[in-house]
Amino acid sequence: MAPTVAPGLASGLATCLVFCLCWGLSCSSEPPPRSILLITVDTLRADHLGIYGYPRSTSPNIDRWFADAAIFERSYSTEARTPQSVTSILSGRLPQEHRVRKYWQLVPDEIRLIPDLLPEAHQKAAFVSNAVLVDKAIGIADRFEHYDEDFDRSGPDGRNTGERDARATTDAVLRWLREERDPDRPFFVWIHYMDPHIPYRPPEEWSAAFSHDEPALVPRSRFSLGMFGKEVDGPPVDARDFVDAYDAEIAFMDHEIGRLLDTWAELESLDDSLMLLTADHGEALMEYEMYFGHGYQVYESIIHVPLLVRGPGVRSARHPGLTSGIDVLPTVLAFAGGASPEELPGIDLSGPAAIPPERIVYAETTFAKNTWRTAIRAMDKWMLRIAREGDIAEWRHYDLAADVGEEAPRPWSAGASGGDRLLELLAKDPDRAGPARIAAPGGVTGPNEIAPRVSEEELETLRALGYVGD
Ligand SMILES: [Zn+2]
Repeated sequence: MAPTVAPGLASGLATCLVFCLCWGLSCSSEPPPRSILLITVDTLRADHLGIYGYPRSTSPNIDRWFADAAIFERSYSTEARTPQSVTSILSGRLPQEHRVRKYWQLVPDEIRLIPDLLPEAHQKAAFVSNAVLVDKAIGIADRFEHYDEDFDRSGPDGRNTGERDARATTDAVLRWLREERDPDRPFFVWIHYMDPHIPYRPPEEWSAAFSHDEPALVPRSRFSLGMFGKEVDGPPVDARDFVDAYDAEIAFMDHEIGRLLDTWAELESLDDSLMLLTADHGEALMEYEMYFGHGYQVYESIIHVPLLVRGPGVRSARHPGLTSGIDVLPTVLAFAGGASPEELPGIDLSGPAAIPPERIVYAETTFAKNTWRTAIRAMDKWMLRIAREGDIAEWRHYDLAADVGEEAPRPWSAGASGGDRLLELLAKDPDRAGPARIAAPGGVTGPNEIAPRVSEEELETLRALGYVGD
């Protein structure tokens, strides 16, 4: 089927064609820097968005704004937790290269991020809404001219939820657009929305957006950390209520993303900008060993995320090839006129280059005493469990075509390309045994630089988000 190009992209495409041809002929004139909007969403499964086929109306605004996008159908997180994955998105590097592997760990100064690599001309702003992305926790505010982390972290019942909701996040971006945006400069704006993360607590007016008929009563012990705290001995609960609430959080956030983009487009044209939407990781809902959580494993629901790219020159199509969070940086820099470090393994997804069918993508996560690592190639998925001592404690191989739920691992076959590459990657990992246990008040020990200022209150926030046990 011939590719289609949205009418709204036609003028931008024409501009791009000039520059693309110019580049091909080695013209001396550089293309002018162009604007980029990067939206990352916490805990957003690809398959709960309409644009990825979800039957519930969770995302009419995202679907509308990205209807003409390049839609990457199989994009993966590099890590199943926020700081690690976000650092990969911003640096184009796998966790074992950027070495941010736990919470409250500063990104090393030598790890260059998108804002460091963009031309000086760009006005660079970030808006984060997760407590583990505040500057004190991750240390990247100085890479931006404006780093907005000013949010009230207390929930409606006074509990510290560690998140800013989508309405306040959109308000913060619009305030910046009206008061601080320099229209004579291109922009790089990164916005991290948090809403789909636990606790699933949409605003009152959204709380009844979705409902179900048959309940699914499940023991509380089946739920992830942070859902019930120590109250796991209570009566079973209807797990489908939690799916409804998760979807309502997405719908509320989608409404706010729509409000943001519609208002932005009134203030300033977005037609010539590159817009990307992805997630740091997904979420297990009523699946696998632990319901409603993410950082404990690398199953498909946990690491399969949306990746949507739209802008002038970007071909509107659905791409079935494998992509990764590490592709965001080369995509942004190729579009914006920055220099992408040559050693980076990611792919520019805004260009015409096809995704190689033999491509392998990698993901990992550390939970309790184990690190899980995976390599995915086509429909083959290899998985390793690494014990704290650094030894391989478990080997799994899944055929995702035959075993969608990852319920029946097969024997690991020697010589398999993805499995061998995963072992090679592991052999080169400077933190093979995984990071030391999560920060304690006053500092932690570990292989990397750790922000040494985790207070009791901040630890309580991490507990509320399910990030840390007792
Ligand atoms: Zn996250």
